[in-house]
Amino acid sequence: MIGSFLLPSYPVVANVTVLEQRDFELEAELDALLGPGMYPADRQGFAQLLIDITPTTPVSTYVRAWGYRALELAHAEKAYDAAEEIARKLLEHAERGNSVAAIAEVYALKAEIFDLQNKRQLAQRAVADFERHSHDVTNPRILFFGHNVAGRVLANAQQHEQALEHFLRAQQAIVNDDQQQNVRRRQFLNMHIARLYATIENFEAALPIVRSAIDEGLRYQVHHRLPDLYLVQGYVLGHLTSRSDAIQSYRHALYWAEQEKDVRIQIIARNNMASELINDADFDAAEELLLEARTVAYSEQRLRELQFVEFNLANIDVKRGNYAAGIDRMLAIREAIVSHGNGRDEAEVLYYLALAYGEAGLFEEQAKTLLDLHDVRQRLFRSDREQLMVEMQARYEAHDQAQQIALLQHENQLREQQLQNTQLVRGISVLLILVLVLVLIVIAMGYRTSRKANQQLNEANRRLHQQALLDPLTGLGNRRHFQNLMQARRQQAHPASSVLMLLDLDHFKQINDTLGHAAGDEVLRDVAKRLISVCGEDAHIIRWGGEEFLIYAPCAAAAEATVLTENILIALNEAPVVYNTGEIAVHATIGTVMLPISDIDETQLDWEKALQLADNLLYVGKLQGRNQAHCLKSIRGPYQTIESLLFRDFNAALELDVLDVVKIQIEVSEPG
Ligand code: GH3
Ligand code: MG
Ligand code: MG
Repeated sequence: MIGSFLLPSYPVVANVTVLEQRDFELEAELDALLGPGMYPADRQGFAQLLIDITPTTPVSTYVRAWGYRALELAHAEKAYDAAEEIARKLLEHAERGNSVAAIAEVYALKAEIFDLQNKRQLAQRAVADFERHSHDVTNPRILFFGHNVAGRVLANAQQHEQALEHFLRAQQAIVNDDQQQNVRRRQFLNMHIARLYATIENFEAALPIVRSAIDEGLRYQVHHRLPDLYLVQGYVLGHLTSRSDAIQSYRHALYWAEQEKDVRIQIIARNNMASELINDADFDAAEELLLEARTVAYSEQRLRELQFVEFNLANIDVKRGNYAAGIDRMLAIREAIVSHGNGRDEAEVLYYLALAYGEAGLFEEQAKTLLDLHDVRQRLFRSDREQLMVEMQARYEAHDQAQQIALLQHENQLREQQLQNTQLVRGISVLLILVLVLVLIVIAMGYRTSRKANQQLNEANRRLHQQALLDPLTGLGNRRHFQNLMQARRQQAHPASSVLMLLDLDHFKQINDTLGHAAGDEVLRDVAKRLISVCGEDAHIIRWGGEEFLIYAPCAAAAEATVLTENILIALNEAPVVYNTGEIAVHATIGTVMLPISDIDETQLDWEKALQLADNLLYVGKLQGRNQAHCLKSIRGPYQTIESLLFRDFNAALELDVLDVVKIQIEVSEPG
């Protein structure tokens, strides 16, 4: 076993056997109280012990103790209803405690209580329920008790083989832990086994069993079952050896019944001895025994035993030839039996009555009695058959119920398995979904990141591109930007008439040298602003080089270009650049051309050549004193004829007067 601690109760799950929950100390006390019977012999001590049993007592111990109380009520007090009520409550308690051992014990208890009341169907059903729960039971006491009860119930139901099977299993459950207790149990069991063999008239099998049980009882001084055992032995010997042997055994039964104060067996032993003596025609000795038995039966109110005794006395009358007296007694017994309704006993009486009528020569009465006997037997047969049917039905139902329960358990297991599978599948699905979501998130994040990276890259590219086209200091377009513009212009079928102006700051190096590079930077930024402001939105202001600017703006006519050029000169001259607290005078020299120049096709006089002319004009201004502009308004004469000269020797071309150039110079009011 598992030790005297309490195990927690487990949830109800099919096929899970809860180990026994026992209080070993209390059970040891119960063991000590146990007498030779099925419940404690020390009834006062037991009543005292029951007070210590509370609902918190471990369930197996609780069921055992109160089970004894139920047996006590049923056996000693014939309080069957109270016993059944206890059994009912115990079953609830055992089921709540989920203890298979305790449940099995309660079913055995129920079988015992029902069997005592001759409620054969209920008893058999309880036996089937016990069997169903007994497979997981290891407690030998419960196994012994249960199989023992089952054997007796089935023996009563004429199911001898099954009964024997149970008795043998009860025998196997006896363990060698307590000599006295074991002898008692073995005796009880052997008595029933022997009785069973005797019932099926296997006297040879019955005799050694009952003999060894008697020997054991005498040897170990366990006398409780000796009256019963000698009774069985007498019956067996009567069939197997001789009447005198049988009588001898019955005499022992009588002796031990007197020792054990078992009144019933005292009566039966005398009665059985008398029966043997009647068969031996020793009527006087028989009568003496029967009269003794009758006295005891009267005083102890053993009515059934009294009937047997009376019947044997009546039989002696008949045997002696006192037919009228014998027949009268038999009729009286029959009447008493009919009022009690025991058909089997009535048939027995009718059988001997018919024999008595025959011996008395009253054949008419004999025939009538035989007819009555036939009726009774018919009735018995019918009720036996019905009983058998009912019992078979009960067994079938119990079996069916067990199967249903097994099916339910199986179904539960399946359902549980399915549930687990579903949960597993669900778990896997959830996991898969999670993984999928994660993958999607990673992809999305990757996508977002890469898109962002792309955006950033694009932005960087754009900025880089812009930076490549922009001058960082002034924010103006750079030389590349202008080249792009010119490339675009070349694609156009009818490029707009425009002005192309090259501007170089005067003596800028001096500003750097005298005021510092930062001052020079500031001047460059300021000039850029002024150019933007003068030229307007449509103009492209380009930082062409260090302190050189290029203005490319739509311009319908050269006159307009001249005005713009002049405005630029004005814008630069009208105010100095403020740097820190000082002022820096800013001047520039400008060369201005048109694009195209004088309707000359740009394929012939392209922007690069035009720009070269502007640069030449700018150089002219530098030479002529700076802070001035020269604007080429037109080229006179066919371009082809002057082209080579124009680009080989600009000054010579100027002197030839083929170029219409306007010089712009504004009044300079030197601060003074
Ligand atoms: P000129 O009137 O003949 O044009 O004389 P100049 O001093 O303006 O011309 P030069 O070509 O001798 O000097 C141009 C100077 O411009 C040289 C260079 O150091 C300066 N420079 C070029 N780019 C920058 C710039 O971005 N910032 C500053 N502060 N100076 C620059
Ligand atoms: Mg320069
Ligand atoms: Mg310069």
